[in-house]
Amino acid sequence: MFVFHTVRELQDYLNAQRSASKTIGFVPTMGALHEGHLQLIRKAGSENDVMVVSIFVNPIQFNNPEDLEKYPRTLEKDIELLKTTPCSVVFAPPVAEMYPEPVTEVMTFGGLEQVMEGYFRPGHFSGVGIVVKKLLEIVAPDRAYFGEKDFQQLAILKYMVRSQQLPVEIVDCPIVREADGLAMSSRNTRLTPVERKVAPAIYQALHSAKLQYVSHSPEDLKKKIWEDITKEPLLKPEYVEIVDTETLKPIAKWDDAPHAIVCVAVFLGSVRLIDNIVLY
Ligand code: AMP
Repeated sequence: MFVFHTVRELQDYLNAQRSASKTIGFVPTMGALHEGHLQLIRKAGSENDVMVVSIFVNPIQFNNPEDLEKYPRTLEKDIELLKTTPCSVVFAPPVAEMYPEPVTEVMTFGGLEQVMEGYFRPGHFSGVGIVVKKLLEIVAPDRAYFGEKDFQQLAILKYMVRSQQLPVEIVDCPIVREADGLAMSSRNTRLTPVERKVAPAIYQALHSAKLQYVSHSPEDLKKKIWEDITKEPLLKPEYVEIVDTETLKPIAKWDDAPHAIVCVAVFLGSVRLIDNIVLY
């Protein structure tokens, strides 16, 4: 497994692979790797000849400076872990390698960026779009793999690839959860033992909503999920939304959307967790 820190080294290697007709799979991450990342990496490894994992904590997608500062950075440990996977190349650039000039551009995605995460984290998806587009241009993979854990991000990146006609296939991967239902996340390492114990109540509320949605209106179901989550006083929801999986627009009646998803963001102490569940 190679570890490259510059675009030049990475591209020299990948150009040689491409000349030998090898297919390239790509998994962008911000590191602090866990089983959720590893499942993406294994899937990418089984579908491509060469597998690239990037590890880059992208400063321009953080609207909260404290979140950026406290984001876990465990590069050495991540590299050791990646040696046990089909990863062929790690690309871990410093910030100046990705952004030699200050970023002034703003990216939009037909309004998909204005709801939920985009509403509460202004500028977040612009930062995500800019870094992912840049990484796709640098790596030029055949396929890029993203988790449904970040459902809105996935919808936005599919929109970006479609609207900008980027030559890559986006592959989505299901949410990987802990045994107690908590969605795996790098931020989970920042939870105290007490917080970690109550965190699975988020998934329990979503799971219960999926079982009962037919007997509620979307509005009532949202209220019920909010109430279920806040039965645990440490959990402070920022939003609970039920939206069309394609348009991300809120649903007033179940008949309005062919597929619906519940998306939530919940503060647990200073840590902000997101999760979702497809209802139908
Ligand atoms: P991150 O390092 O948090 O930016 O995540 C990198 C990629 O891993 C993104 O496509 C995420 O959606 C995906 N990912 C993170 N956590 C999970 C999870 N629990 N299940 C599935 N995919 C995940």
